[in-house]
Formats: sequence, structure tokens, C-alpha cells
Amino acid sequence: MHPIIGIVASAKDVGDVSAPTTYTAAIEAAGGVPVILPCGENFDMYEHFVDLCDGFMFTGGCDIRPSRYGEEPLPECGSIQDHRDIIELAFFEKAIKTDKPIIAICRGIQLVNVALGGTLFQDIPSQFQTDILHKQTQERFEPSHSVQVLESTPLYAMTNGKATMMANSFHHQAIKDLGRGLAVMARAEDGIIEAVFMPEKPYVRAYQWHPERLWQIDANNRAIFTEFVKACLYS
Ligand code: MN
Repeated sequence: MHPIIGIVASAKDVGDVSAPTTYTAAIEAAGGVPVILPCGENFDMYEHFVDLCDGFMFTGGCDIRPSRYGEEPLPECGSIQDHRDIIELAFFEKAIKTDKPIIAICRGIQLVNVALGGTLFQDIPSQFQTDILHKQTQERFEPSHSVQVLESTPLYAMTNGKATMMANSFHHQAIKDLGRGLAVMARAEDGIIEAVFMPEKPYVRAYQWHPERLWQIDANNRAIFTEFVKACLYS
């Protein structure tokens, strides 16, 4: 009835195992049971975490070390936590094999892309010409730019034929080259990739924006979580 959603969290991160309550609240409101997984470097434990859960969530956070996608770091690249990279990449590798649903947000979309061999813009303002402020100045619960949803993608059905959704935006990195098996689901008007999915997998969807901060005011963003939790019920 209520699927268990494992939120992948790093047990070394500032000494606590934590996830922002915006993520747990969004899962709860959609009928799921959020569980924060204390992922340390005992990778054998991940098999048990994976068995326990009906679906998985990867959350926002710091930048991924550029060498993991074959690049030297630019001066504009942000802060990095190697243990978080290592833990999340190892967990993703196990989770993806189960075919249980995966949702990934912000850093999460970047993590999924790098795990599948893709690359990132290390810093949008210095590497990509755009008029859109992807680090919005408005409050985080407010939408700031729209995204264009591609027809023939699972997200399109949620837009009721409008092919557009409101997004908030507080990222300075984004997908550059797409990882293996990923397809674009939505872009900002400047072309920046804002959502992807895996057509060959039952349910892997990732978002650059933060629907967990918009579901209270926007039905389309709310549907992102209700669809995900529903998919977890039947995984
Ligand atoms: Mn954006």
C-alpha cells in the first residue's frame, strides 16, 4: 500500500545521516514512506538497503569531481565531497540493476548522468551563453523559468498537452553530454537539459530543478511524486 522509498544519504557527511525535509515531505504527501539510508563504505550493506526498498531517491548537493567524467576542474567548479561521489555512484550501480524505480533531483540528475558515462557543464555562467538565471534570486519555493517538455516522453502526459512546466532553478552545473541510455525529457528555453529518463528502463527519471519545493503550489510538479510513488508500488 505504501512503498518504501530509500533516500540515498552519505553517512560521512558532516557526521550526520540526513536529508532535507522537503524531500521526505514530498514522498510522504505522495503516499510513500521515506527512509533515509545511512550509506557508509561497507558496500556489501547496499544489497540489503536495495532489497528493503521499493524505490530510490538521489538528492541535491555539492558538485561531482570532474575527473569522474574525464575533465580537469575549472576554477568555477564548486565544492566537492569525494565520499559522497563514491557512495552514490556505488549505490546507483546496485539500484539500477534491480529495475526498481529511481528518481533523482538536482545533483541527482548529474550523478545519474556521470554514472552512465555522461559529462557536465562545470559552471553554466562561464561555459554556456544564456539569458536565463539558473541560480534564481527568488525564494526557493517560487518558480523562475519554464521548461519545454518533449512530446513522446513520460513527463509530457503530466502537462495535459501544454508541453511546458514551471521550474525553480538553483544550479550552476548541468548535463553537457548525455550518458548511455538516457534521453532528454525537458529543456529550459536556452537549451539546458532540465529532465531526463531511461527509455529502456521501467522507471528512471531525473530532474535538474526542485519539484520537492513546488508540489504544494503546482499540480504538474505534484504529479512527479505521485507517479513515482505509484510506480514503486508495482515494482
Ligand atoms: Mn534551471
